[in-house]
Amino acid sequence: MRTAPPPISPIAWTGLVVGAGILSLLVGLFAGVWGAFVAAVLAALTVAALARRSAARWRARRAALAVPFPEPWRALLREWCDHYNRLSDDLRARFEDDLRIFLAEKPITGVGVDVSDELRLLVAASAVTLSLGWPAYDWEQLKEVLLYPDDFDRDYEFGADDLSGEAHPWGTVILSVPALCQSFRDPDDAYHVGFHEFTHLLDLEQTRFDGIPLGFDDQAAQRWIAIREREIPRMLRGASVLDDYGAHDPVEFLAVAVEAFFEAALALRRNHGELYELLAAYFRQDPAAWDDARGLTLEPIRPRPPRPKGRTARRRPRSRLSS
Ligand SMILES: [Zn+2]
Repeated sequence: MRTAPPPISPIAWTGLVVGAGILSLLVGLFAGVWGAFVAAVLAALTVAALARRSAARWRARRAALAVPFPEPWRALLREWCDHYNRLSDDLRARFEDDLRIFLAEKPITGVGVDVSDELRLLVAASAVTLSLGWPAYDWEQLKEVLLYPDDFDRDYEFGADDLSGEAHPWGTVILSVPALCQSFRDPDDAYHVGFHEFTHLLDLEQTRFDGIPLGFDDQAAQRWIAIREREIPRMLRGASVLDDYGAHDPVEFLAVAVEAFFEAALALRRNHGELYELLAAYFRQDPAAWDDARGLTLEPIRPRPPRPKGRTARRRPRSRLSS
């Protein structure tokens, strides 16, 4: 059993306490002893509240990891989750732990949907696939996941074909259950509504999306923009592994690229090497190498079929920037 990671690391705690002390001293310089006393009390109360919340979360994490991973869950992951199957034993164990922590902390609510263990696993597996390479990453920006029984339109009416998922800047992710299941059922078509919507949350800078993954330094951001400008004409010509849904908006480009990174890793590495390399460094994962190791080979690229008309024509998920 792995030790549950604390929600706030010891280094962050040290910084917090030292910062509170320095703040109290500064207040003392300008507002005298009583001012410093009041500031110190307020700082202490704030730290105590954070400590209490953090301790409760840590207890929940330890409880989630205290029992062996349920064998029926493992069977479901083997059946549904291609990324889980391509991992080494060590990474698979980390995947299972991250998944349990995600499920212990993130509310998943059905709207006209019974939320089964299977669905909860698919939601968590979508997020954990992205964050597996980042130990102790806890999806702080995600507040809740809502599961809808079907695709929906912009008025949240079910049965329309406008949207299969949405990510909101305040931390709500909405997923259509049929689209989510289809995403796992076909693991190599570079379409995955779960990867897509959770990627939008990785792009969240304060309360807006900008198409640059959070955590990129200036150099990586410049490389990303240059790659994007080079790839978009290829997407529009239909000569790309990436779906052209991402060609018209930098935010969607990122989400579509991440879908391809995890679902068409071998093709992305061969045909878009620099993009693959940048995403592999960002996610600290190498799915193409893991596919090599399990003996997968790349089939010749088939031309992308024309997008069908009608209901299935707009199966790509979309995300609203704000409402
Ligand atoms: Zn989107």
